[in-house]
Amino acid sequence: MSNKTQIRQTINRILSPVPAPAPVPSVRPAPEPVPPKYTDKIITCVECAKSFVWNAGEQEYYNKRGVLNAPKHCPACKARRRQYFNNHPNQGQK
Ligand SMILES: [Zn+2]
Repeated sequence: MSNKTQIRQTINRILSPVPAPAPVPSVRPAPEPVPPKYTDKIITCVECAKSFVWNAGEQEYYNKRGVLNAPKHCPACKARRRQYFNNHPNQGQK
């Protein structure tokens, strides 16, 4: 193969219609698997400062009841508060 032939082939390749470019792979990293709407959250209780899990099932349960805010109290404190308010109905829930 002569040098000229090579050059012509190169020119032909450059001038020839370019086939549709392959789809450029996205620059962004592969998307993470779609996260479930609710994921377990670690919450620190405002009363005893212990961490507790607000799990996805509870979040969904609360959300369906219109409660969008995360609970502030761990189950233990919640139960104690409920107990307290049950025993002191006149104090009202705050
Ligand atoms: Zn607590």
